[in-house]
Amino acid sequence: MLKNNGDGDASLPHGGEVFLALGSNKGDRALHLRNAVHVLNGNGFLVRRVSSVYETDPVGCETGAAPFLNCVVRGSWNASPETLLNLCQTLEKESGRDPEHSHWVSRELDIDIILFGDDIIETDRLKIPHPLAHKRAFVMIPLHEIAPNVFFPNLRLSAEELLKALVPISGIRLAQEIPTLL
Ligand code: AMP
Repeated sequence: MLKNNGDGDASLPHGGEVFLALGSNKGDRALHLRNAVHVLNGNGFLVRRVSSVYETDPVGCETGAAPFLNCVVRGSWNASPETLLNLCQTLEKESGRDPEHSHWVSRELDIDIILFGDDIIETDRLKIPHPLAHKRAFVMIPLHEIAPNVFFPNLRLSAEELLKALVPISGIRLAQEIPTLL
């Protein structure tokens, strides 16, 4: 279980490790990611580490869609995973993203909760570990960069082991000229 100390009590120290995957392929992509990191950090998600920013060819988006910028953020969160999802969805909306978006369109900001401590969650609204994370190079490469040993409790494998299983990898590169987001 996540070393969690209560639901939303900001007076308590931050608990277990949470990993978020951020992506943007619309508007000022780097700005959307940077804003998200700062707003998360100012709203109870204590940001401890941010990966490099990677650029990824869009897959499944509309024709002519721009490449994504992606990164992974490591931090801690004292409240419930649902409350964190609410915060992430508020940030997505505030970035200009259409709340009625379909899954496969360009978006200003996408935030997925990849891992929430060792919790395994399967509800209508929330699946953690994120069920597609380990199949996505744009999640696993930045995750491995900052936490190679982190463990997927559902798969019983580390980020390193899962990344090795992903080869061959294509369509992802380090984004040039993006200063560190933290
Ligand atoms: P997306 O279009 O990728 O932003 O997907 C958003 C939907 O995925 C929302 O309805 C969430 O409730 C749902 N969802 C399920 N599991 C997760 C997760 N681990 N992180 C973020 N969204 C999730």
